[in-house]
Amino acid sequence: MTHTRQILLALILGVAAGGAINLLVPQWVPLIDHHILAPAGQVFLRLLQFIVVPMVFCALVLSFTQVERDEHVTHYAGKLLVLYIITSAVALAIGMAVAAWLTPGLGLGDVGQASIEAKDPVPLSQWLVGLVPRNPFEALADANLLQIIIAAALVGIAARQLPEQSQSFIKTLESGYHITLKILSMVLKLAPIGVFALIASVVASQGLELLIKLGLYVFGLLLALGGMALFYLAILALAGARSGAYLRHFSESLSFALGTASSNAALPIALKNAEAYGAPHQLSAFALPFGTALKRDGAAVLQGFNALFVAQLFGVDVTLPLMITIFATGLLVSFSTAGVPGAGLVAMSTVLSAAGLPLEGVAVVAGVDRFTDGFRTALNVMGNTANAMLLARTQHEPERQAEKPEHP
Ligand code: ASP
Repeated sequence: MTHTRQILLALILGVAAGGAINLLVPQWVPLIDHHILAPAGQVFLRLLQFIVVPMVFCALVLSFTQVERDEHVTHYAGKLLVLYIITSAVALAIGMAVAAWLTPGLGLGDVGQASIEAKDPVPLSQWLVGLVPRNPFEALADANLLQIIIAAALVGIAARQLPEQSQSFIKTLESGYHITLKILSMVLKLAPIGVFALIASVVASQGLELLIKLGLYVFGLLLALGGMALFYLAILALAGARSGAYLRHFSESLSFALGTASSNAALPIALKNAEAYGAPHQLSAFALPFGTALKRDGAAVLQGFNALFVAQLFGVDVTLPLMITIFATGLLVSFSTAGVPGAGLVAMSTVLSAAGLPLEGVAVVAGVDRFTDGFRTALNVMGNTANAMLLARTQHEPERQAEKPEHP
């Protein structure tokens, strides 16, 4: 059985086991969930996160030491940002269109509400200042991917200008990269157990009752996420970027994202899959961490869909200015959503308060968030990897086959 199939099977068994625990032995849920399922899932997630920073740092520095000129990165970053903005706008539009069409918020009745505080958005100037690391170890310790990219660029460019003095440093990074790949393959052996525990924990603790009550909301959101995934497959095919091969190679990272609901945790697997797909290493070593820090199509779909749902639920008139506000803030918020479970839910309050919609809407959907999070995360990873592969296509760089690179 392929690794992807094992993960998908673990997901199905996790839902079944969690549902059975919730329904048949509800009095045991605290014991089983708090002491077995949740800790087992957390251990697996932590092992994946353990690899992210060293792997990304080694891969990025090596990529910066190997290039002839530095322009490739600014060039990649500029093109990726344009692709990100266009595709995130499509994701938001799909989310809003599906919500407007299905009207999941109408006639829902009482779904339990609580008061929520809005999160203040970070001003752009402060966000830009925060990109520059003041301490490389702080950037690494905080797993701040954008700061790590900048730190790696400085180290890599400097090392390239000192070929003799940096020889042993580069060798150490090469060994480090291969060691992280080895650790990854060891951790991945635990994946079926880890994914099973994560999903069983969610279903056992939350039950399926609310999921049924908010069925149309969940269905509509999944439909919009699926629509955006089809959009990516279509543009990959149109760009001649082998969409079948894309799915075959990246199904592993997509199923991981589905099981872990964390784009950050799926990053090492996405890097591994990109290599097998034959993407140029210099491009994926930069583009995938960059996209993991910024690109969130799942969050864009969520913000557009959810804001209209809340407007419908509370009987707010959906006017053109309201739609424009939701669109603009949803787009900005999607770029600043963290790659961790539940981040999209936290970011919702910013969009709702900017649009003047009741923040209680967050509490209404909080109970089903973890069920949709995995699907959103899979789309986040798809958006990140698909945009990188599209860029690889437009760069006309030879796509190498599944061989190990000489240099990682
Ligand atoms: N869990 C998502 C991710 O890691 C973010 C979200 O909540 O939408 O990409």
